[in-house]
Amino acid sequence: MSVLLPASLAEALETLAADPDLVPMAGGTDLLVHWPQHTELHERSYLDLSGVEELRPHRWETDELVLGGLTTYWDIIEDQRAWNELPLLIDAARQVGSIQIQTRGSWAGNIVNASPAADGVPVLMAYDAVVVLESTRGRSEVPLSGFYSGYKEMRRSPDELVTEIRVPRRAYDVQIFEKVGQRRAQAITKVGVAVTRSDAGWRVVANSVAPFVCRCPAVERILEQGTEVRGSDDLLPAIREDVTPIDDIRSTAEYREKVLARLLYHDLLDLCPSFG
Ligand SMILES: Cc1cc2nc3c(=O)[nH]c(=O)nc-3n(C[C@H](O)[C@H](O)[C@H](O)COP(=O)(O)OP(=O)(O)OC[C@H]3O[C@@H](n4cnc5c(N)ncnc54)[C@H](O)[C@@H]3O)c2cc1C
Repeated sequence: MSVLLPASLAEALETLAADPDLVPMAGGTDLLVHWPQHTELHERSYLDLSGVEELRPHRWETDELVLGGLTTYWDIIEDQRAWNELPLLIDAARQVGSIQIQTRGSWAGNIVNASPAADGVPVLMAYDAVVVLESTRGRSEVPLSGFYSGYKEMRRSPDELVTEIRVPRRAYDVQIFEKVGQRRAQAITKVGVAVTRSDAGWRVVANSVAPFVCRCPAVERILEQGTEVRGSDDLLPAIREDVTPIDDIRSTAEYREKVLARLLYHDLLDLCPSFG
């Protein structure tokens, strides 16, 4: 195994351009978890980003919060402004693994690892976050809601790094994040959902119910149009349009659909006059 340790973003991008087979590594909490079983991973070469200080800090701009490519969950948990303005980031961050994982794991790593069960992705997507990708060829910006195209498939080329995640600062009157797992901590999500409402409209984002974390446009339409919903079962046809859950070791497709419907119904009952 070889590990390359660039000291600047320019050096990291040049190194990756010269060898796009290099695997970028941020906190390593996703990458290293597979090492005991997948010994072939020991033969790969890694681009350890931990020395690239430019990627670490996050900053508040007038109209957005900008996370760096190495910003961790803990960096945001420690930021009181995030608790006040974008509380779903806190809700999700505090439910990722344990404190050890929260202090190492990055938002960018969560996005690029592309697990359908990722907990950072739904809240970022519900806030209309934009992924900033950079390579020696230039810089591009992709809305997170359009970043994935299939299981572990995404709009990132091998020579690109996620250098920023831009989160708009808006006024929200609905902000909900629900994670259903085996227990309160150290649990992989069985069903999850993030919901926001702002001037930009409703956003409903679900995880662990499709090959990738995704928005639920049919459910969003019900909310936008104020369609009458008399019980959680009324949401099932829209949910079935939006997501394709599977049976796996953690739960069944049927359970996932029903729990998603119940979470949405009970969370929105007091907020939507059309729910009764
Ligand atoms: C015990 C344990 C519990 C966990 N619990 C949860 C949980 O509850 N919820 C959850 O969502 N996740 C969980 N995870 C998974 C993991 O911690 C998160 O997905 C974390 O955000 C990954 O970030 P990282 O910086 O460690 O990524 P890494 O492991 O360093 O990288 C992950 C992927 O992203 C790529 N990558 C990283 N940074 C960049 C970048 N800047 N540009 C381009 N590519 C990049 C890597 O090449 C790799 O493909 C858990 C992991 C462990 C070990």
